[in-house]
Amino acid sequence: MGSAYLDASGKQAFGKPEKPVPRHRGLRKAAAVQTLASLIWIPQAAILATAVGRIADGGGFNDVFGLAVYIALFGIAKSCLEAAGGRMAFRAARTELTARRELATAAVARRSPIDSTRPSSGEAASVIGEQAEMIVPYLSRFQPARFKASAVPSIILACIFPISWIAALILLFAMPLIPVFMALIGWRAQAASEKQLAATGGLNGFLLDRLRGMATIRSLGAVDATATRLRADAESLKTRTMAVLKIAFLSSAVLELFAALGVALVAVYVGFSLLGETRFGAWAGGLDLTSGLFVLLLAPAFFEPLRELSAVWHDRAAGEAAMKAINALNVEGLQLPAASDAPAVATAGAIRLANVGFRYGKDSNAAIDGFDLSVRAGEHVALLGPSGSGKSTLLALIAGHATGDTGSVTIDGQPVSSALHDKIAWVGQKPHIFAGTIAGNISLGRPNVSMESVAESLNFAKLNRFARSHARRPLGDGGLGVSGGEALRLAIARAACNPNARIVLADEPTAHLDAETASDITESLIALAKGRTLVVATHDPRLAARMDRTIVLNPETLREAAE
Ligand code: ADP
Ligand code: MG
Repeated sequence: MGSAYLDASGKQAFGKPEKPVPRHRGLRKAAAVQTLASLIWIPQAAILATAVGRIADGGGFNDVFGLAVYIALFGIAKSCLEAAGGRMAFRAARTELTARRELATAAVARRSPIDSTRPSSGEAASVIGEQAEMIVPYLSRFQPARFKASAVPSIILACIFPISWIAALILLFAMPLIPVFMALIGWRAQAASEKQLAATGGLNGFLLDRLRGMATIRSLGAVDATATRLRADAESLKTRTMAVLKIAFLSSAVLELFAALGVALVAVYVGFSLLGETRFGAWAGGLDLTSGLFVLLLAPAFFEPLRELSAVWHDRAAGEAAMKAINALNVEGLQLPAASDAPAVATAGAIRLANVGFRYGKDSNAAIDGFDLSVRAGEHVALLGPSGSGKSTLLALIAGHATGDTGSVTIDGQPVSSALHDKIAWVGQKPHIFAGTIAGNISLGRPNVSMESVAESLNFAKLNRFARSHARRPLGDGGLGVSGGEALRLAIARAACNPNARIVLADEPTAHLDAETASDITESLIALAKGRTLVVATHDPRLAARMDRTIVLNPETLREAAE
């Protein structure tokens, strides 16, 4: 999880949205190979019918031995082609899945961290990790099966028609009924599958959220309510899964019925022809044993691709639903500003906000409106204001987590973008601690962070003792067992080991801390910001007093500024 997050937020993940993935060409080739394998049955059936005809005419072993060899050779070729086709299809499907996963992960990573309409982590994980796997059977089995079902029956029909038009007609009538019924059923199956996947995603999201909040749920005695909701969700998932299965069974039952009827009618016709009861339906002189047997052997093969298609029919519904779900992660929300093409200049760290306005949604109030601010390079500034006055939003705009709706945010005259991420150190309000080692939590896999600088930053943030006590015991999921002060020190250490940082942004670093720890953190922060620009949002007058300048921010002054 940790490393996936790191990959996803790494530089390469940002940038312009890619084009949609082209359908893999390997799939078409695989389908063609599999179709060829199915068609080999036609010469095999012809040879088999000829051999039986010869035996019936009193032929001996020598008359049919050569034919038997041919049948065996064709059989081997068929197996080889089938295996090769299956493997090609599987490979192509996996390649496609990987491409789609990459697109979706990049799209999720491009969403701004302050976008509250982002898909929940549990849901995104479920869609990208688990549900996306459904795309593989859909592409590797359903797509080739569909191609086969459209090609093989018509070729077989073309072989039967010159021998007996009535047999061809029987098959022709039985065939279109199948796709019509399947389409009707498939249409329902798709809806059912989408509902089932949505239920799975919802259940996963809910479960992850509640597992994270287990301590809250337990301590407030809300276990029963959560369990009830979980039971209801699981129940609904069960119903939806059963609905999908019911439709799958129904579709194969319909197909088997028509296939059996078609083959039986052909068999009856061939039987009567051979008994001499009817000469009707064949072109000249009725059917003999060889041609009759050939037609009879081809009849089940005519339905075979359709049966195969129906066996994988619900792969289609599940696959298309998964495809839709993973593509839905690709929607544009609040985006991170794209990297500008201008080369990153050496940054001194002067920040300028001119007439900046920002709202979180189209119909929500402006979080910031017509805001101006100019911070010199190396200046230390406190943003003071009541909760909800837009401090965190301002920091997010400076950090380039989102773009303002109006005005401009520039750093040394350059618009903020992901190209500047390296220049900005962020000490968030609630630093996320990943499960893993302390060193890993500090370096976060950044390429420009060396192990020496991690050790130095541990020293700098006064984390040595903490690091020693956790030397053998990695940190828990979500920072379990890490105190508020320790978490902030970790955040400061993360910032300290980036030598390129010219700007430090801190969001209420001393909130929720006791006076002593708060003053410790204040000192560390000021040490970190030495020679750098610092903007800190805070309620803490003691922290604000240590800054060069304090900017008071409240809804009134914001509104005044707007007027
Ligand atoms: P502060 O940090 O000063 O407490 P914020 O910048 O967090 O204030 O919030 C400013 C306004 O924007 C508040 O009205 C808040 O409800 C709203 N807001 C903050 N974060 C989000 C978000 N992720 N999605 C929607 N609205 C938000
Ligand atoms: Mg805030």
